[in-house]
Parts: sequence; structure tokens; C-alpha cells
Amino acid sequence: MARMDSETRITPAQQSRPAGFVEVADRVLVARYPEWDVNVGLVLGRDGAVVVDTRASGPQGRRVLDDVRRLGRDIVVTHVVNTHVHFDHTFGNVAFEAATVHAHDNVGRTLAAHAAHYKDLFRADPGDAPEAGYTARDVADLLATRIRRPDRTFGSHATIDLGDRCVTMAWRGRGHTDGDIGVTVPDTDVLFLGDLVEESAPPSFGEDSWPLDWADTLSAHLVETADHTVVVPGHGRPVDVAFVARQRDEVATVATFVRERRDAGVALDDALREADARLPYPVEGLADAFRRGYAQLPRPS
Ligand SMILES: [Zn+2]
Repeated sequence: MARMDSETRITPAQQSRPAGFVEVADRVLVARYPEWDVNVGLVLGRDGAVVVDTRASGPQGRRVLDDVRRLGRDIVVTHVVNTHVHFDHTFGNVAFEAATVHAHDNVGRTLAAHAAHYKDLFRADPGDAPEAGYTARDVADLLATRIRRPDRTFGSHATIDLGDRCVTMAWRGRGHTDGDIGVTVPDTDVLFLGDLVEESAPPSFGEDSWPLDWADTLSAHLVETADHTVVVPGHGRPVDVAFVARQRDEVATVATFVRERRDAGVALDDALREADARLPYPVEGLADAFRRGYAQLPRPS
């Protein structure tokens, strides 16, 4: 989809809400920006601060920095974490010149190609998309942005030391992409899950998604949570663990349908046309879920 991560997410009420960071736990904050309705996290520590995801362009990243400085002139962003490779979470990296950028190995491997692909898509269709909260100006900024790849990548776990507290990053399997990570602050009960979870739209099954693996990956993250854990999705309001478990079950249902259709020998085109009331999301948004799932499964004999 040319506008992945951009399905209708913004309601008039959201557009009128105040911008800037809101504290969701001790010195852990979230700002929700209307362009692509994306969340940015901020963790403050004695020796620096971590920004989680950087929005869709250099100028948008700089506006995050402006919002951080509004909280206190002495806050220094020392680290950036990308929850996954997608442009609306990574293109702002370039604004954080003094920070070390962290991400999963697969983000390091795929960001340049992903960026080139998305710049091509936006170049071909640079128009406004008010329903996704962005304008032609935002697209021009995105196209002009120099892509900054992560400085440090990891395979399973990594930690950032902020002196009086840590931020931990964990990869627990493929899902929305092959490089989605959970980001936690162990002295609080907050978990950033990027687009493994979405609150303001159905989860986004894109052309780089892993629909058959996704539910297991969410289960692996859920094992590490407590009943009162606050989960920050890539898009939309923070949610509780029960919400994540429900979305995990819906993603599992999609995977079950893909497997059933494949096992029954249903051609991909027919599967894509076949709406079914048991599917948790409109079949139109599941084209890549079926395509990717079919490609992963053996042909029925
Ligand atoms: Zn995404």
C-alpha cells in the first residue's frame, strides 16, 4: 500500500488536542503527532534522554526536539530508538545529531531500501491526504530528508544506560515487519511496541509484514508484561495489556484464515475477493496479509 500506516486515524477530536509530551509513568512521556498519527516516546534519566521514534522527516524530527526543549532547556537527547524501519518512525533520525540511534539489525539492513521505495511512492503521488493528517508540505519535507541509519543495531536484546535508570530493547520475532522491537523502562511499567499494536486503526499488514508470525511475537512480548502495564502503540492512545491480547487474537485469526485458504487450494485472487464475517478486519486491508502468508506457506499438494 502506498500509504501504509496512514489509514484514517485522525478524528476531529484528536486534531484539536494539545500537542506535546504527556507523562504516562515516572519521567516516561508520549507525544502524539497528527501527521500519520504517530506516537513518539521520551524517557528522561540522570545522564540523558531517549527518544523513541522520530516521525517522518527532518523538520518533523526537529519539532520533536523543540517539544523536548519546552519541557526543560537542560534535557539532552543522548539516544534515539527506532521501533521499526518505517518512514514515519525513522526519517526524523537526522534531527538528533548528538544522539546515538539504536534499532534492530534488520532495520539497519533494510532502512536505505525502504526509504528509497517510499520516496518513490510519495514522489509518484505527493498529494495531501487530510485523512492521514499530512500535507504536500510534509511530503516535500520527507522527500528532502537525508536518511540516517542506526548507529548501533542488535539481534535480540540491548540496553541503554541513563545513569539512574535503563531503557531496554527486545526483539521477540517478526510481525508488522522483521525488525519490530519492544522498548521498556524496567523501573516503570511501560512498554513501547511500535506498530506491533495499533489503537487508532487496525494493525497494518504491509508488503513487508509477517502475518503468520505476528501473533506469536505479540504473545512473547505479553509474557513480559504485568496486568497494569501501559502499552504505547505506534499509532493511537496508550492501551492496556487486555487490548494487546485482543489484538493478538485478531491477528491470529487472520493467520488462521490465510492458512485455511491456502490449505484448501483457494487461489490468491479468489481469497482476496472473499469477504468473511469471521475476519476481524475488512478484507480490503488484508491483501498483503494474504499475499505474504501465501508466499510463506507451501503450495497444497
Ligand atoms: Zn509501521
